[in-house]
Amino acid sequence: MPTDNKSMQTKFIFVTGGVVSSLGKGLAAASLGTLLEKRGHKVVLQKFDPYLNVDPGTMSPFQHGEVYVLDDGAETDLDLGHYERFTSGVLSKLNNLTSGQVYENVIKKERRGDYLGKTVQVIPHVTNEIKARIYEVAEKSDADIIITEIGGTVGDIEGLPFLEALRQFAHEVGPGNALFIHVTLVPYISAAGELKTKPTQQSIAKLREIGIQPHIILCRSEFPVEKDVREKISMFCNVPAEAVIECRDVPHSIYELPLFLHEEKLDDIACNILGLPHIEPDLDSWKKFINRVIDPAHEVRIGVVGKYIELQDAYKSIYEALTHAGAANDCRVIVERIDAEKLDSSDVEEKLDSIDGLLIPGGFGDRGIEGKLRAAEFARTRGIPYFGICLGMQVATIEFARNVAKLPTANSTEFDQSTDHPVICLLEEQKSVTQKGASMRLGACICDLKPDTRSYDLYKSATINERHRHRFEFNSDYREQLEAAGLTIAGTSPDGTLVEIIEIADHPFYLAAQFHPEFLSKPNAPHPLFTGFVAAALARKVGVAKHKKEQSLTLRRKITRS
Ligand code: GLN
Repeated sequence: MPTDNKSMQTKFIFVTGGVVSSLGKGLAAASLGTLLEKRGHKVVLQKFDPYLNVDPGTMSPFQHGEVYVLDDGAETDLDLGHYERFTSGVLSKLNNLTSGQVYENVIKKERRGDYLGKTVQVIPHVTNEIKARIYEVAEKSDADIIITEIGGTVGDIEGLPFLEALRQFAHEVGPGNALFIHVTLVPYISAAGELKTKPTQQSIAKLREIGIQPHIILCRSEFPVEKDVREKISMFCNVPAEAVIECRDVPHSIYELPLFLHEEKLDDIACNILGLPHIEPDLDSWKKFINRVIDPAHEVRIGVVGKYIELQDAYKSIYEALTHAGAANDCRVIVERIDAEKLDSSDVEEKLDSIDGLLIPGGFGDRGIEGKLRAAEFARTRGIPYFGICLGMQVATIEFARNVAKLPTANSTEFDQSTDHPVICLLEEQKSVTQKGASMRLGACICDLKPDTRSYDLYKSATINERHRHRFEFNSDYREQLEAAGLTIAGTSPDGTLVEIIEIADHPFYLAAQFHPEFLSKPNAPHPLFTGFVAAALARKVGVAKHKKEQSLTLRRKITRS
């Protein structure tokens, strides 16, 4: 039940999905968040994931894409990245609930005897736990509107307790306070030459079976959803025709989605149902950002050398941060995805020849490490801007130790436990850790920057607060030796013990951080390290082009003279 006045004033929007997965529910929810925020409301977005893992931190990126880390150290679903990028909200561990957490809590309570001898059941105990989380978020945040996306597809067995909890919740807060949006697929069948509404009808029927009648249907489609199709969906799904909203693939950038949905009046319809006033959203700065993304003056190629390169979602926040930094530099960032395992010594030159900057992202395990070391060496020796993130910083350290500080056996104990020169080693606090889940060094930690370094120049600040997710660290026993060989320690933990950023001063841009700056980049607040990196890549490209032009002029002169 609602616990105080605050949760009674808050409005609740629930976003479900039907027909197939991967419909972009997260982006749709985030885009609605943008529109409501730009209308002046305080919005909090959250995700409920029906799987049994307590959090996605233990899942492979091959299964689940990127693990998005919050300030408080929560390892969450990548949709929370969209939520933070599309709104000004800073989320917490309360904003990603999984069945694993729900059952963990219920079982803890049962063991403590909190249920006073009752039989513990999905209804009411599991559903109460889910509802309690929504009320808790309403109470603790001062949000006007809470948007909750439910992972999975309507009809999934594990999603049922969540949907039943939402049905009860909507009943408790009463009409006008809860709104259901169902995202569905309207496929085009070429043999029939038309869009088909039957999957949508069946998916809504499934929701209604549970007792939920959606107020708005968002139709994902490759083609325009014409009036007759909307009317059909309206008639058979019991929603007004104007609440059947077309949601086609956006032409250039995901950041266009709020604009398209606004044209379709999604925010107006939602606010009408929730009794919120009509306010025109202020989308000026958002539109300016999109214009810079769509039509920039320049272009750079950034090579991302990783292990999960073929997966669209594994380095999502990095790709987004590059887009933001590109817009800040009036420049399109073309990402060349390079598989570290396929980067042999024979073809490094050829594969990295056309890039203007090299980024090595985070990762775990030794697969592809030799390829990453080769790439780091190539960037260091050829003066190509290099940006290392987490594992990318550890790789840069190993490569520098091997090839510059002349410690040819240098390694990380993650890859070789008995290496003679463990320049990267297990964090002290990790030595006693035995369980895998939520046990890394996680979340926002303060880092002090050294004056007269590139990092200091870019951040324009002596202290920064960045999100972490790692078990291994730069081994301080090697600090003096590596510094003597020319490495700059540009950032450390406030007590000076943990190395957070390394740089090479005598290089156009060689910077690597132990933390994950990509989690703090937003469209109109690009991360300074990404902005500096893209600027350096652009400067190199311009420099190389100038150099090539001069070379060909000299050659032509020589030919004419002879
Ligand atoms: N595997 C490395 C560590 O645990 C790097 C982690 C990362 O890149 N997120 O320290």
